[in-house]
Amino acid sequence: MSHKIYVVGIGPGAYEQMTVKAADVLRQSDVIIGYTVYIDLVRDHLPGKQFLSTPMTKETDRCRMAFSEARKGKTVSVICSGDAGIYGMAGLMYEIGAQYPDTELEVIPGVTAATAGAALLGAPLIHDFCVISLSDLLTPWETIEKRILAASRADFSVCLYNPSSKKRRDYLKKACELMLKYKSPDTVCGIVKNIGREGEEKSLLTLQELKDAEADMFTTVFVGNSQTKTLSEAMVTPRGYQDV
Ligand code: SAH
Repeated sequence: MSHKIYVVGIGPGAYEQMTVKAADVLRQSDVIIGYTVYIDLVRDHLPGKQFLSTPMTKETDRCRMAFSEARKGKTVSVICSGDAGIYGMAGLMYEIGAQYPDTELEVIPGVTAATAGAALLGAPLIHDFCVISLSDLLTPWETIEKRILAASRADFSVCLYNPSSKKRRDYLKKACELMLKYKSPDTVCGIVKNIGREGEEKSLLTLQELKDAEADMFTTVFVGNSQTKTLSEAMVTPRGYQDV
């Protein structure tokens, strides 16, 4: 018998920011597996479901749990915030799934923090941009550093995920110092916190100011390119239209 697991991006937080398809898939699932914070975001909208979770750092256990539930004949959804394919569980599910050839995976896309945060700020990512995570839990810092420098040298707008945590307080500062090698200290930047969740906030600042700004693990940071400007309190990167 073949089994099925959905890997679902639930969007940044608010139920309204989930795609209709993601909501449908969750409604059709028997079991919903995810990190506790994400389960708490959807629980009230999904009465009668079985919810299973593991601590934040037990990702492989969470994946194996999904395969073992699917083998019991249940329809299983593994949920991630934002998009499951952007610093989410989709990749690991395929890697572990290689050991479960009788189980089919389907990834359901979601609204990632980059696009949800960009919408709050205005239009910072409308031209070429890079997404870089500052978390060195799974990526060596030297690699992160190389990517920050390359993106800055090529004048990409940069969207930073995982800008800070208790153990990595000064990472945003270090990233800014690297970007300042190629980007002007006046570069327009934006910070968004708790998108679609309680305590949602945003602010605009310069790259120089960003260096000393506070960020936590529910923050996404936007650094403009050399053309990015502020227009009535919005962060806007021009696409290059000449006739405006
Ligand atoms: N799969 C997620 C990203 C997970 S990595 C997605 O596609 O959005 C975790 C990082 O994502 C956080 O450190 C933060 O930088 C960003 N993030 C996720 N949800 C967020 C939210 N609601 N508000 C602000 N940033 C968020």
